[in-house]
Amino acid sequence: MTMERMQPRTQTDAPAAPVDLAATGERARRALAEAERRGLPPDPRVFELFYAYLGGEDPRLCAAVDALLPEGGGANLDAVERLHETHLALGGQAERFLDVGREVELELALLSESLARRSAANDAFHYDLTRARDGMSILARPGTVRQTIRDLIDLTTRYAQQVEGHDAELAAARAQISDLQDELQDLRERSYIDHLTGLANRRRFDAALELAIHEAPERGPLSLVICDLDHFKRINDGFGHAVGDSVLKQFARLLRQNVQGKDTAARFGGEEFALVLPRTERLGARHVAERIRQELAARAFVITGTRKRLGSVTASLGVAEWRRGEGAAALIARADAALYRAKNSGRNRVIVSD
Ligand code: GH3
Ligand code: MG
Ligand code: MG
Repeated sequence: MTMERMQPRTQTDAPAAPVDLAATGERARRALAEAERRGLPPDPRVFELFYAYLGGEDPRLCAAVDALLPEGGGANLDAVERLHETHLALGGQAERFLDVGREVELELALLSESLARRSAANDAFHYDLTRARDGMSILARPGTVRQTIRDLIDLTTRYAQQVEGHDAELAAARAQISDLQDELQDLRERSYIDHLTGLANRRRFDAALELAIHEAPERGPLSLVICDLDHFKRINDGFGHAVGDSVLKQFARLLRQNVQGKDTAARFGGEEFALVLPRTERLGARHVAERIRQELAARAFVITGTRKRLGSVTASLGVAEWRRGEGAAALIARADAALYRAKNSGRNRVIVSD
């Protein structure tokens, strides 16, 4: 193939076909390998020709350059110069190749925007994307066109997938955390409640008593009542554990009905219960304890289904009023001692610690 076969092309020809990136990259690789091998000077005309060739919009120019590549007739500087003159006659089509870069850059910008919307906080992504965009300048450098474009597309695609993956993981993790928080809250609440009676358990009783003692110097008197069901073992033995449980539940309801919002009714353990009564002095506490004792004693317990009578159930109660400087253990011990006296002096009674 010789230079004479090249004919100038006019601008009125049909519009150029869309640029095929793979073909352009391949063409660039071949052209550059040859330019390197022959040590062609970095003449601006050579590059202009090179870009026009890469653009591939004129098959005749491409064919002429192809002829200079190893498969063709070989090149010298004269041939390149002649080729350049011919190219100038073709018109300013060297711009076309740069459009390839702009198209890719635009694609990347769009991708970047949509990714950025999905993960505004992903700094690492922005950093890498900026680096990738900077990489576009390599398009103007020889030898790396195809690889650079492919790298950029790979990188962007990979990030798109990663960001999507992260979003999904994040949503799943958030749902899990929320479930765990609910479970934890549930457990926390249950850990303070006695499961049989629904009253405060010993743990909450301890906390309530500590708080009440802490506040007592400012808020005024504080009393503690400890109750123990009388001969409860007989109920269990005579009617069964389930009946015993039912009596415990009913007694718990009775306690709940006899305290106010600021008070704490707790199951102290087994068939022992306690009331923390802030802003209540010993006479007030004794009144509450006495009311409970009487209501319990007056109640006729009937076993459901059998209509068998359980007879009366009674309780003994000890009352103690907090003394300035006294700790929880000492206050409990005094209420307990009063309860012990109530048991020893015949049960079904209230004794106040003096
Ligand atoms: P006292 O008048 O001296 O208090 O006699 P008591 O029989 O009530 O006292 P004792 O401490 O000997 O027995 C308490 C019984 O309470 C024994 C135990 O089996 C029973 N008990 C403790 N917790 C529960 C429970 O959750 N359910 C039932 N049904 N019984 C329980
Ligand atoms: Mg008992
Ligand atoms: Mg007991």
